[in-house]
Amino acid sequence: MASAPASAARRLVRPDIAALAGYAPGEQPQGGDWIKLNTNENPYPPSPAVGPAIAAVAAGRTLAKYPDPLATVFRRQASAVLGVDPDWIICGNGSDDLLTILVRTFVAAGQCLRTATPSYILYRTLAGLQGAVCEEIPFARDWTLGDDFVAPRPDLALAFLANPNSPSGTLVPRERIRQLAERLPCAFVVDEAYGDFAEEHCLDLVRENDRVIVTRSFSKSYALAGLRFGYAVAQPHVIAELLKVKDSYNCDALSIAAATAAIGDRAWLADNRAKIVATRRRLTDAMRALGWNAVESQANFVWCTHPSRPHRPVYEALKARDILVRWMNYPAWGDGIRITVGTDAEIDAFLAAMRQI
Ligand SMILES: *Cc1c(COP(=O)(O)O)cnc(C)c1O
Repeated sequence: MASAPASAARRLVRPDIAALAGYAPGEQPQGGDWIKLNTNENPYPPSPAVGPAIAAVAAGRTLAKYPDPLATVFRRQASAVLGVDPDWIICGNGSDDLLTILVRTFVAAGQCLRTATPSYILYRTLAGLQGAVCEEIPFARDWTLGDDFVAPRPDLALAFLANPNSPSGTLVPRERIRQLAERLPCAFVVDEAYGDFAEEHCLDLVRENDRVIVTRSFSKSYALAGLRFGYAVAQPHVIAELLKVKDSYNCDALSIAAATAAIGDRAWLADNRAKIVATRRRLTDAMRALGWNAVESQANFVWCTHPSRPHRPVYEALKARDILVRWMNYPAWGDGIRITVGTDAEIDAFLAAMRQI
């Protein structure tokens, strides 16, 4: 049977999708002995409460049934930890799932999604998938965010701000976020994927302003990137709308049980955070001693640029030594390397390689 030419089906695809580049996540090499400092995963194993929680679900008949669409046990546990009622919380298959739900809920095709740059590049892809316009407001060179971010625009439907930001690791202070939220006429998502590593967060603003939505991830601070779990906090009438848009069973029974156990283990989180923050300090100081500009970070990675050396060859020389960092290049801003905070041994090996290079 002759197969149709490869181009035939492509012509059936929505033209805007065919034109879309698609989001390219950081390299995930399978196998090999890599020191992986490129995708902001946590270098430590998750809370010891996670394994037994998964085993208990796997042993019974729970997996034969559909999971709880609302992840009620997680919402109750998170409610106790965060100090908001369960109906202020919606769960997602990773926080990326929640970002998709938010775009689908608030942004109609042709409307504008605003974000800052350099930042998380998935926001642009999500706007493209929705047929929306993505407007990127540049950060100032010192990573502050100007009033352009709240400039009026009739088609403005949603604003996304990663805080702490990636790749810079910088934080827009909560008071500034409060001002921005008051002036923005649209829904305002503060993406706190790295919030547990930072000195402050914006949950309080959700109580004051129903346009503010905070998203959180289990991939970074809980060491559960492979699990896929995240949640968003918003006022209950906003959550009710988001629930209409999500897939019925967007979180599986294993991840609900695991995330519930993980968020309940506050001692593990505090200990992990302390280790990451200490190694982050050491990495930042060592990069500065090597002549790099290392931005003071509130996350689990450090953004580094060199005043005179090109950055890409450094990324390549590290890769040749089985060390992966993320080289990122932002038009109209420039490039740099983003180094995830690994274990002390990983950072020592990285720094030894940097001294050779
Ligand atoms: C990693 C990351 C996410 C995605 O987190 P998942 O829960 O793994 O989907 C969202 N936003 C930012 C800024 C991130 O860096």
